[in-house]
Amino acid sequence: MQRSLEGQIALVTGASSGIGAGVAQSLADAGAKVAINYHSHAEPAEKLAAEITANGGDAFAVAADVSDEHETDAMFDAVVKRYGTVDIVVANSGLQKDARFTELTLDDWRRVIDTNLTGQFLTAQRAVREFQRRGPRPVSKALGKIICMSSVHEIIPWAGHVNYASSKGGIQMMMKSLAQEVAPLRIRVNSIAPGAIRTPINKDAWDTQEALDRLLTLVPYGRVGEVEDIGRAAVWLASDDSDYVIGTTLCVDGGMTLYPGFADNG
Ligand code: NAD
Repeated sequence: MQRSLEGQIALVTGASSGIGAGVAQSLADAGAKVAINYHSHAEPAEKLAAEITANGGDAFAVAADVSDEHETDAMFDAVVKRYGTVDIVVANSGLQKDARFTELTLDDWRRVIDTNLTGQFLTAQRAVREFQRRGPRPVSKALGKIICMSSVHEIIPWAGHVNYASSKGGIQMMMKSLAQEVAPLRIRVNSIAPGAIRTPINKDAWDTQEALDRLLTLVPYGRVGEVEDIGRAAVWLASDDSDYVIGTTLCVDGGMTLYPGFADNG
């Protein structure tokens, strides 16, 4: 395993499960120390931190609701107290509250926007402030790296998920505008847009053969994604191997954004 993140410090939000946990593991495997944020259940985050530590890495679990600015501040304070600073911030926390448009409650609209979009705004803002506070470090060409976990639904409209698709569309323009603003500071901001990745958030879409077959009609590459697919992309975007990559969304989706419905129709 190439240790392209040796000596660097990472924070991954929403890392007690799914993609966040996979990304935390991949960053640790690449040599980074990792702060594992969780929202409400400490145990899986502490278990992951213990596993990383037992394998010779360095990780710890830190609580925060990323939609709350005081909790997000406290999360960064805890990371700085433990590791001195942070080099890589992966704003990954997200949730779905699905409903047909006319049934979508204001609470569920707000909850999704607050967590997915405002949560990434607060996380990215604190990251930029911390990168500027501590100045350059010899571990990376960039002052700092931010990776926003977006979705193919920053591009693909999604009926019945208007709140979620709106949050991801918002992340696309937040990421690009922020990337433009902070590139002169040598801060690199990019997104990953996962397609269908096997995690708790979309269990209904892959846990029966019928659901899986239906899902795979949307994936030209013919398989569901695994969290390691996203983890490897995150390691690359966090490393100096991608030093000239700024303001880009990297789709890791088996071709889902290639409009597979047009493959034999037109
Ligand atoms: P998941 O449910 O396993 O992970 C989401 C994580 O976010 C959980 O650990 C949850 O505790 C955390 N979270 C929720 N609200 C939070 C809050 N207020 N503060 C802090 N943490 C909070 O699902 P996942 O699939 O791993 O999703 C991770 C990210 O990837 C999300 O942003 C999701 O939109 C995105 N994504 C997932 C897929 C997929 O196919 N799984 C596809 C595209 C995008």
